[in-house]
Amino acid sequence: MDLLYPHLTVNAAGHLCIGGADAVELARQYGTPLYVMDEETVRRQCRTYRQAAAEAFGPDALPLYASKALCFAGMYKIAAEEGLGVDCVSGGELYTARYAGFPAGRIYFHGNNKTDRDIADALDMGVGTFVCDNAEELTALDRIAGEKGKVQRILLRITPGIDPHTHKAISTGRVDSKFGSAIETGQAMEIVKQALSLPHVVLCGFHCHVGSQIFDIQPFVDAARIMTDFIAAVRAETGFLASELNLGGGLGVPYTEYDRTVDYAAAIRNMAAEVRSLCADRNVPMPRVILEPGRSLVAASGITLYTVGSVKTIPGFRTYVSVDGGMPDNPRYALYQSRYTALIADRPDAPQDTRVTIAGRCCESGDLIGEDMPLQTAARGDILAVLTTGAYNYSMASNYNRLPRPAVVMVKDGQARVVVRRESYEDLVRNDIL
Ligand SMILES: *Cc1c(COP(=O)(O)O)cnc(C)c1O
Repeated sequence: MDLLYPHLTVNAAGHLCIGGADAVELARQYGTPLYVMDEETVRRQCRTYRQAAAEAFGPDALPLYASKALCFAGMYKIAAEEGLGVDCVSGGELYTARYAGFPAGRIYFHGNNKTDRDIADALDMGVGTFVCDNAEELTALDRIAGEKGKVQRILLRITPGIDPHTHKAISTGRVDSKFGSAIETGQAMEIVKQALSLPHVVLCGFHCHVGSQIFDIQPFVDAARIMTDFIAAVRAETGFLASELNLGGGLGVPYTEYDRTVDYAAAIRNMAAEVRSLCADRNVPMPRVILEPGRSLVAASGITLYTVGSVKTIPGFRTYVSVDGGMPDNPRYALYQSRYTALIADRPDAPQDTRVTIAGRCCESGDLIGEDMPLQTAARGDILAVLTTGAYNYSMASNYNRLPRPAVVMVKDGQARVVVRRESYEDLVRNDIL
């Protein structure tokens, strides 16, 4: 069967391997459910983005790792070592980044509702750039920075009014969005004027993010055109010239054999060519360009391993294969009907001769990993692997039904190490007070 990615192979025992490590052995050694990621795949993607961005946009271009995709200390360490910046959206993400020693100057602080405490904490940490979302935030940031005797570098989040045709929950660039200020309504120009009037912020440029799981560069080209026009309009109206343009993240990854693949370096080159010609056309100096990939840096590297429990066939309806995890470790089917590829790690080369619904173990009919999925004939005790779970799985995990969150194991050259310990039952009651 199609294993989607070159770091996934089959070994002499006929088992699934990830980064040279036997998945069935990993499940035996570390227990299930288990997140496993291949370190080399993550680092290679980081380098692809970094090199392509530097070559295409110039040496000051900076890819940020959108850390909501997969957030734990070890990931910030990798991002730091690979020379990326990071995008954080909460006090918790900022804290984890600093805990891992990530340089504060390379952090971009996002979010549509930063609390006063978040703002104060981020200022105290010396976060390099705030991406300000709205007027109330700007007012609060200016006040708190003033109290601390600081002047904060900022970008403004602008909604370019683009629908990139992905699922509506992961499309964020339309006018009707909880994020940012829309150009169409005039609110974007207003917030620019507000930012320019405040003494404790320094406006450097603009940010936009059109959505997620996008395979086409057209939405990015459209966004770049609209943002370049906006830079020109702001210069004409206020005299302010943006020196930084953050084009957001959103490039997609294949989850099934039917999904397209993306040549990330080529996509970045094409974007750069467009931005250059747009800037030349509008007589706007080329800004420093920031990219913000999340999913496309980490999704491919990860798989989730489960142990099969029951296999229940309901004649005339379907077969349910139940596993020892579910929506608490992967809520994406419940949230977005996301499609995945699954296989039995003990025998990936056996024919996928059944079509099944893979169900979790929660008290919830919607607790599914997927429906109508091709799978090898499964039996209790088999190790079931779900592919492409590196992004928005661990970072979205919950303790629903008091299931402890799985461990995360990182594989490098066939050697595995735990990078996030499995939660224990003691962890679950740690904050409970009798
Ligand atoms: C989620 C998000 C990203 C990353 O999106 P991906 O689709 O994971 O690449 C980047 N920037 C912002 C502001 C985001 O909210």
